[in-house]
Amino acid sequence: MKFGGTSVGKPERMHQVAKLITRDDEKKIVVLSALSGTTNALVSIGDALAAGDRNLAKQNIDKLEAHYQQFISELITKPELLQKAKAVVAEHFEFLNIILKISFSDALSKDILAQGELLSTKLFCIYLEEAGIDHAYLPALEFMTIDGNDEPQLGTIKIKLAQTLKSYKDKKLFVTQGYICKNARGEVDNLKRGGSDYTASLVAAAANASVCEIWTDIDGMHNNDPRIVKKTVPVEQLSFEEAAELAYFGAKILHPTCIWPAQQEKVPVKLLNTMQPEAAGTTIEQNAGSTGVKAIAAKDGIIAINIKSTRMLLAYGFLRKTFEVFEKYRTSIDMITTSEVAVSVTIDNNSFLKQILKELEPFGTITVQDNQTIVSVVGNEIAETKNVLAKLFEALSPIPVSMVSYGGSKHNVSILVPSEFKTQTLQLLNKGLFGLE
Ligand code: ADP
Ligand code: ASP
Ligand code: MG
Repeated sequence: MKFGGTSVGKPERMHQVAKLITRDDEKKIVVLSALSGTTNALVSIGDALAAGDRNLAKQNIDKLEAHYQQFISELITKPELLQKAKAVVAEHFEFLNIILKISFSDALSKDILAQGELLSTKLFCIYLEEAGIDHAYLPALEFMTIDGNDEPQLGTIKIKLAQTLKSYKDKKLFVTQGYICKNARGEVDNLKRGGSDYTASLVAAAANASVCEIWTDIDGMHNNDPRIVKKTVPVEQLSFEEAAELAYFGAKILHPTCIWPAQQEKVPVKLLNTMQPEAAGTTIEQNAGSTGVKAIAAKDGIIAINIKSTRMLLAYGFLRKTFEVFEKYRTSIDMITTSEVAVSVTIDNNSFLKQILKELEPFGTITVQDNQTIVSVVGNEIAETKNVLAKLFEALSPIPVSMVSYGGSKHNVSILVPSEFKTQTLQLLNKGLFGLE
């Protein structure tokens, strides 16, 4: 059971989480995120230090500490346990204050980011102690690791988790941190923003769990982005493939790559609402449940690169050479379309854009469009569903679509639009494909 930032962001929410995890006495591992707002605050502390502004960093640290002091005073009642909680808060803020004094590095910024999940889990365990709920605290840094390519290896995590669990044979309830891990150099690292979902899926797969429940602040995956479109509805069932595409293409409710571990070990994933525990939510499993369009997601910050070359005409090897440039700079391509004399690709990482463009130059005329958004329409057997493509393009008639991609998978039609048209695109599709306004 994984609980996100909002689900643990207030003392009364943590009390509610304790109730949810003790509704039955099945053996379970509870994965917690940092309290909502904490990771953002830690990011800004790191940014201030990176910019050499120690005063600002100090101000942010003190503000965050005050928030935690208030939080524990409402979380815990028993004086001796409140004392224990105060000591935990003091320990972690002392650490931040020490970092303030030493020279800043990328590795230290990861240490800063890890404080959120360490605090939330330790404080939650003190509350469980107060409530008389038997449990064990599992330090995620003992078993969550990433390899030299910053990828988690399920096999390694499985072995390490089993070792850690061995020490607690008599326990039924375990609490651990989401998001944080150790990298191949043995340093504290993380699974990128939103990574607690990834921890949950990895842990569920590694522990051979019967289910991976992701508890958040909404009743499941909705058919469209509820932050942008007014009327959205939850989707009852998704296949692993559908959910993976929605997550990868921007549905914030799930970390972009969190589905594969659960899918690999066939552990069903449930998306549930902490604030409304009886709501059905979304079940993600092998089977899609139904065909047709399920949901739409959008991914911002996309750059489109078009390479036009008359030499591509009838030339083999052209695409290979093009893709090798992206491979060299470890930049993955999301969308591809080709014509007789041109190829367009999209990337979401501009770290090596300059170098990539320089190396592509000899291949032909290169044009770059930035500030693009990929809008993905996801659903099982999408194009075989009557009129879907017709409805999609009819709905999009006012939008200057820059690229269209279909056929790579049977559950996804992706279009690229300039980001200023994202909201309108999502709204038009909500009406055109779901009849919702
Ligand atoms: P948590 O802190 O629990 O991990 P997140 O904020 O990461 O929660 O994810 C939940 C949020 O995702 C929702 O509050 C909602 O605003 C947003 N969201 C974006 N797209 C979708 C979608 N298609 N369905 C449901 N929620 C979505
Ligand atoms: N606390 C981390 C974040 O805000 C991880 C997570 O919440 O999933 O990104
Ligand atoms: Mg999240």
